[in-house]
Amino acid sequence: MKQKQVILFGAPGAGKGSQAKYLVKEFGFKHLSTGDILRAEVKKGTELGKRIAIKIDKGELVNDQLILELLKANLDLQQDSYIFDGYPRNIAQAETLCKELLHGSDVVAIYFEIDVQVLVERIVNRLVCPDCQAIYNRVSHPPKVGLICDYCSSPLYQRPDDNEETVINRMKLFHEVTSPVLNFFKERGKLHVVDASQDFDNIRAEIRSIIESV
Ligand code: AMP
Repeated sequence: MKQKQVILFGAPGAGKGSQAKYLVKEFGFKHLSTGDILRAEVKKGTELGKRIAIKIDKGELVNDQLILELLKANLDLQQDSYIFDGYPRNIAQAETLCKELLHGSDVVAIYFEIDVQVLVERIVNRLVCPDCQAIYNRVSHPPKVGLICDYCSSPLYQRPDDNEETVINRMKLFHEVTSPVLNFFKERGKLHVVDASQDFDNIRAEIRSIIESV
């Protein structure tokens, strides 16, 4: 059976991860975040993990071939529907996704459009749960008690690459390298744009109607 695959696009901090979690719960998608897969490899402390960590810490992209291998090991597009979060990040990855991975699945790309200044502000205040991956914000969505996850009580942390210098580098990369991918999907009639400066529930409603309409 043809599976529906959803690609969430947007600069770091645009809210893709939070919405992805909702879509998993609501529609039963599997969440595929290349950033999470890479961080899991770093956590293992392998040689490969060490090389990946250097790239992530600088806010640079990990090489395309490695990403493809990690994806092949982690997904089955004929069997399941996924939310792609953080992939594809450049035109080469978009072409690979279409040629080598999708195998005729229906695909919908959703772009989270938002002002860069708002993003930097959001991202340097972001806190993440290392266990259940819940996402918080020190200012707009703080945890209920101290720096402890509301859902699983694990101590929250700030991603090391969520510092201002790396964030600015990641933004630059997004605009130079990832933005052209938007055109790739636009030309194929697959791109939808949402205003990601709205509150969570409005964005959620928009995404829901996009997914239900395709
Ligand atoms: P993210 O969690 O999506 O913000 O990704 C964190 C970091 O992981 C990025 O800044 C990159 O260094 C790396 N990364 C994540 N996804 C990819 C990808 N598709 N291609 C290359 N590098 C990636």
